[in-house]
Amino acid sequence: MEKWPIGVFTSVDAGLGVKLEVAHELGIPTIQLHAPHQETRTQANADRFLARLRELNITLTCVFGGFEGESYADIPTVSRTVGLVPRDTRAARTKEMKEIADFAKMLGCRCVALHLGFVPHDASDPLYAEVIAVARDICDHCQANGQALHLETGQETADGLLKFIQDVQRDNLFINFDPANMILYGTGEPIEALRKVGRYVRSIHCKDGKWAKNPGQEWGQEVPLGDGDVNMESYLRTLKEIGYEGPLTIEREIPQEPERQKAEIGHAVRLLTALKAKIG
Ligand code: MG
Repeated sequence: MEKWPIGVFTSVDAGLGVKLEVAHELGIPTIQLHAPHQETRTQANADRFLARLRELNITLTCVFGGFEGESYADIPTVSRTVGLVPRDTRAARTKEMKEIADFAKMLGCRCVALHLGFVPHDASDPLYAEVIAVARDICDHCQANGQALHLETGQETADGLLKFIQDVQRDNLFINFDPANMILYGTGEPIEALRKVGRYVRSIHCKDGKWAKNPGQEWGQEVPLGDGDVNMESYLRTLKEIGYEGPLTIEREIPQEPERQKAEIGHAVRLLTALKAKIG
């Protein structure tokens, strides 16, 4: 694969992300995919989807897990509902995450990712050890599938995430770095964070955002790529610095406005193409 192929976050029938057709219309060569609904994760559907990707000349680079009942409404709601941290849903979601990894395997995809949820900042919190255990369990399942597990950034500081990854002690655990999430959740300046966690970064999102007035207490605002506080040129220069050469996967979450979403992704493709030419 060429260095820094453009990508986009897509979905089929569940989760956020644009339809595959949008990637095709915009000439985007790679995608990440939000896992489809449980009942559609069959070998027959995987084969159909792969045939469609071949037809469109698109490469699948990562499958993202996501679950019923997750809500990104505000930061406390994320903490209560997202990922494998909440206790009430953990067992069922852990099982489902393994099924998602198995579905990714049917798609020939060696990368699985997710928002793990809010890992407690205090390592002596009993919940911390529980989250370490569940992360190991998923990593080991992925390892048996020949897959790596990538943690989406945002809910932890760079230092918190580093400590967590080191404590999990699995060599197939990496990071999907999302610079906008660092701003949206108020967990740290993204460029500085990227330098810190760089050695674990194996996939990334190109997303932009603006800081909230009270970072960490309220959401920042997701905005079109280039309009926010990330600084895309500095982001790409830092990716180069850490030796990242994988896909530049655009993520733009405004599913309620598909036309605007497509236009903004088109704009993001042009911006990234120009920056690649300048920096690449
Ligand atoms: Mg993201």
